[in-house]
Amino acid sequence: MEKQEKQQKLSALPKVDLLVEHVERLWSGSSPRNVIADACRMAVDHARSQVLAGTGGAADFETVAQVALHYLERKERPSLTPVINATGVIVHTNLGRSPLPERVMPALEAVACGYSNLEYNLEAGRRGSRYSHVEAILCELTGAEAALVVNNNAAAVLICLETLARGREVVVSRGELVEIGGSFRIPDVMARSGAILREVGATNRTHLRDYEKAINENTALLMKVHQSNFSVVGFTSSVPMSELSSLAASRGLHVFEDLGSGTLVDFSRYGLSHEPTVQESLAAGADLVSFSGDKLLGGPQAGMIVGKREMVDRIKTNPLNRAVRIDKLTLVALEQILRLYRDPKSAVGEIPVLSMMTSPFEAEKRRARRLAARLRKLSPPGIDVSVCGTVARAGGGALPLLEIESAGVAVGPDAGNPAPGFSAARLEEMLRGGDPPLIARLERDRLILDVRTMRDSEFAVAAGAVASALAKISGQERT
Ligand SMILES: *Cc1c(COP(=O)(O)O)cnc(C)c1O
Repeated sequence: MEKQEKQQKLSALPKVDLLVEHVERLWSGSSPRNVIADACRMAVDHARSQVLAGTGGAADFETVAQVALHYLERKERPSLTPVINATGVIVHTNLGRSPLPERVMPALEAVACGYSNLEYNLEAGRRGSRYSHVEAILCELTGAEAALVVNNNAAAVLICLETLARGREVVVSRGELVEIGGSFRIPDVMARSGAILREVGATNRTHLRDYEKAINENTALLMKVHQSNFSVVGFTSSVPMSELSSLAASRGLHVFEDLGSGTLVDFSRYGLSHEPTVQESLAAGADLVSFSGDKLLGGPQAGMIVGKREMVDRIKTNPLNRAVRIDKLTLVALEQILRLYRDPKSAVGEIPVLSMMTSPFEAEKRRARRLAARLRKLSPPGIDVSVCGTVARAGGGALPLLEIESAGVAVGPDAGNPAPGFSAARLEEMLRGGDPPLIARLERDRLILDVRTMRDSEFAVAAGAVASALAKISGQERT
């Protein structure tokens, strides 16, 4: 492009103040003027750099205004928004882990939007403890003497070790030195807590005598860690909690178990593999157990610490506790969730994570048929929509080997008459960028929507989103 032509185009770029007035009239939302001005400036800058680079087309007033509207829309869209999880991964850490039951909302809203007795003892009329709201029920459900909740289980492990073992040794099996992801690794957390890791045994086998030999005058704790996201198979052995706790007791030591996900319900009752419950760990003699609030428990992000009163009390008064303390919104949601566990049947029925885990395959197949029927009605020709078997997962680093038989809807090209230009990868990308975003799994040239992690109320929106993405793809192909 001629230098002169560029110059001409640059001087013809819209003036920001005129653009702001125009965009303000076009914009359906109500945004502060400085936000609109910002979007307009971005649009003009964008047009200018295109002119300078000699790329891009028209930079007339109306085109730049449309670009500004686009920026404005992006600016005003909340960053953290709901998505539809069609991956079949139930506790999906990237997608917010556990969805809460609707039933917790009234309590959450009431506490969130007003004052509460968070740290106020209403009977005594003086300062109270935020932990009081869930301590009794945690003890009731798990059989523990005392309980405490903190920000998450990573914080729980850190503060337990810092309180009970700083500067002293903690004996852990080499088979349990797990990395959870997001950089949480037992050896690293141990180092940060100031405790000294004393690894024993081998990766695949650890015996009671390994622990016995490692105990010395500087030993503070014996620790067990749930393997969570991996499994050692073959020639393996580990020491059960009952034996470890007897050993600890005979040496005047304590056992701490990081149970990872932790669960209060026995999944083997629902035809799934057995996951050790918090109650079982305590009954087998663990002095202290920590577990997550938002894994298989199905609640908000939190870290539960349950066990011996004397140990829990020491943790409560650790200054670090202030740095990892639980927020009131979390606390109110957690209390509501824990109340549901008083009746395990209602917990399984009402807590989404539990109902997704335990819903029978046949029920999911029927749901998949319903979604497929909706989608078929809306799909353009050349697209095959069919019900397929899938494998859903617990996720969240729990039950890694468990394959949950599930059902989904596969969207792919019709083998006899494939829609021109169809690409499952393109479809996946469009759905991910949609409103609401829909996250699904690619399987060769098909997109799979696993219904186990979808709510019935999301079917209509999901079907509409897939159909309009398909229409766009085939529209683009035609032009
Ligand atoms: C998941 C997990 C953690 C971390 O729990 P968060 O609640 O995610 O902080 C710690 N230890 C084990 C064994 C885990 O599985």
